[in-house]
Amino acid sequence: RDADKTPLVLEGLAKSFGGVKAVDDVNLSVASREIVGVIGPNGSGKSTLFNLATGTLPLDAGRVWLGGIEVTGQPAWRIARAGIARTFQIPSLFDNISVRDNLLAAAVEGDWKGAPQRATDVMEMLEIGHVRDNLASELSGGQQKLLEFGRVCMRDPAVVLLDEVTAGVHLNIRRIILNAIRKVRDSGVTFLVIEHDMEMVREICDRIVVMDAGRVVVEGSFDEITNNVEVQQAYLGR
Ligand code: ADP
Ligand code: MG
Repeated sequence: RDADKTPLVLEGLAKSFGGVKAVDDVNLSVASREIVGVIGPNGSGKSTLFNLATGTLPLDAGRVWLGGIEVTGQPAWRIARAGIARTFQIPSLFDNISVRDNLLAAAVEGDWKGAPQRATDVMEMLEIGHVRDNLASELSGGQQKLLEFGRVCMRDPAVVLLDEVTAGVHLNIRRIILNAIRKVRDSGVTFLVIEHDMEMVREICDRIVVMDAGRVVVEGSFDEITNNVEVQQAYLGR
């Protein structure tokens, strides 16, 4: 695998909580500039998969490679430094500092000199420039999702993992996020996104994996997924 520069490779990932196999032998490779969607019912292991890939949780089994470099078992901060950035299902912002300072704080390990300009660019892309001096706690839920994504962009990552970043946001904010994901992808970034909104999945994902009970049960294009009878019955409610 040394010569393999695939941005993200997950091999045989597994994690149990008590008797529950939250993630059960998941294998997944994400190619450069690919946007892969992860869908599946609540409790199917999507967030746990992200936690394992980023070192947020220790693995029971499996291996993780970033850009051809194995990071299995390394602490989350080191895996982050290797080029992966993620959002959390519940935004992990600094409530009592400004929007702009939340962005600058995310750049700690990055390029300090470039950070102010980068923050300005990110605020413009995400249309949050007008609230730059507001505290994060003063933002709407949707704006907090934008800022959470903005903090990821500040880190200049090679691979981005988004955990339900459009859940519960208004259509206009969803549109901003969708356009930003496309723009960041076009700059060379690879995405793995947990997404419940099938319209969003259809619009941005090159490939979709369907999880159930910790396992990848179906994988394919949007049409392949939505034409799959098992997926229709179990996950799409048709
Ligand atoms: P999803 O993101 O697909 O909704 P999760 O990965 O959050 O699913 O959860 C998968 C399973 O693992 C669920 O049964 C959940 O209750 C369990 N689980 C997740 N995180 C923990 C934890 N930290 N401790 C105990 N059980 C957990
Ligand atoms: Mg989840």
